[in-house]
Order: sequence, then structure tokens, then C-alpha cells
Amino acid sequence: MDQTAIRLHQVLDTLPKGVRLVAVSKYHPAESIMSAYQEGQRIFGESHVQELQVKHAALPSDIQWHFIGHLQTNKVKYIAPYITMIEAVDSIRLLREIDRQAARCGRVIDVLLELHIAAEETKYGLTLDDCRQLLAEGEWRTLSHVRICGVMMMASFVDDEEQIRREMTLAADFFDEVKAQYFADAAYFCERSWGMSHDYPIACECRSTLVRVGTTIFGERVY
Ligand SMILES: *Cc1c(COP(=O)(O)O)cnc(C)c1O
Repeated sequence: MDQTAIRLHQVLDTLPKGVRLVAVSKYHPAESIMSAYQEGQRIFGESHVQELQVKHAALPSDIQWHFIGHLQTNKVKYIAPYITMIEAVDSIRLLREIDRQAARCGRVIDVLLELHIAAEETKYGLTLDDCRQLLAEGEWRTLSHVRICGVMMMASFVDDEEQIRREMTLAADFFDEVKAQYFADAAYFCERSWGMSHDYPIACECRSTLVRVGTTIFGERVY
């Protein structure tokens, strides 16, 4: 087993039942992805359309690609034919465009709403109130080619474990609120995507269902 395979298993071994791994492979070569693939990993996360296009064409077709970065509306069309999940939807405009492109492909695309909870200002995402408003306005109900499956967020990049825990717990409580109000009968609304290399063990304790881990598995990214 190579380093990637060893580290993949080290991460997988720590995940509780009900938490799935998105192996974040951005900036890592196809060979690294294949090392993880050969160990059975199928969900991979990418955050750049161009890079994903190249990897999707070159790698096995049963890989489930999650788009985890900020997605520009004019690029949705490139990934719509094959993307498994778009994790970081932060506007009704983007949701509309995903719906439009999915319809053209005859698909229904799973998405998550990205929440902005972290203290950092540079992060994308909907504030909780923006997200409440987007849902209350109701246009999303008319978009029959997207399926809102839950929420995603990035906690603040800090050492303070309690702060990370507070932010993730806030996101989990918000998930419950939205589930009760809009998706009580929708079994597919079940995903809570948080936890990265530095904080995924905390995320596992804070009701994450999808952790997005890159560096711990693939090593440092070379930009
Ligand atoms: C890059 C990235 C990750 C993975 O980060 P690591 O620290 O390498 O584990 C997770 N989520 C998002 C949105 C990312 O862009």
C-alpha cells in the first residue's frame, strides 16, 4: 500500500457509522485518486471546473464527483452532465442555473446549501437569515431538476476547538430547523457536510454526515 492508501484507511477507520468521506483531491494528480479508488473510495471532491473536467474524462466513470468550491453560474453547464452533488450553493441564481442545465441533460442534480457561519469574512455562503429567506420565498419548489439534500459549511480556521464546535452545532441545529419546516417528509434531505483535515474529528461529534478531507489523505497541495 502506498502512503495515500494508508492515510485513507487511517481516516476511514475513525469515521463513525453514518459519516461518509469525500476525499478532496483538488490539485492532486490522477494517480493519487487511483490509489484511493483502488481501496474502494468512490466519492471525490474538487473545486475547480477545468481541473474536474480533465479528471472526470480520465478516471473511472463510477466515481461520484462532488463539487465543493464556489461555482460560477456560467460554468455549471460543463459539469451538469455528470456531477453527483454540488455542495456549495449560495444563491437562488446559482440554483436556477443548475436546474436549467440539469433539465437540458435530463437529470436531477443533488445540491447542498452553503451556510456562512464562520467568523472569517472571505468565505462564501448564505447567512442563516439569507438561507431562511431563500427557502421562504419558495421559488426553489418550482425547480424540479434540483434536489436540496441538506447543508454544508466550513468552520472558522482556528485552533479554538470550542469555537469550531459551536459553529458546527449551530449548523446542525439550523439543519433541524429547515428539515422540520420544509423537508420533514423528504428522506433525501439528510446531509450535513462539515469537517476538513484539521477539524473532521470534531465534525464527527457534531452530527456531520459528510466530511471533506484532503491534506490528511493526499498530503500538502502544490498550487
Ligand atoms: C480544500 C477543501 C477541503 C479540504 O481541505 P483539507 O484541509 O485539505 O482537508 C474541504 N472543503 C472545501 C470546501 C475545500 O475547498
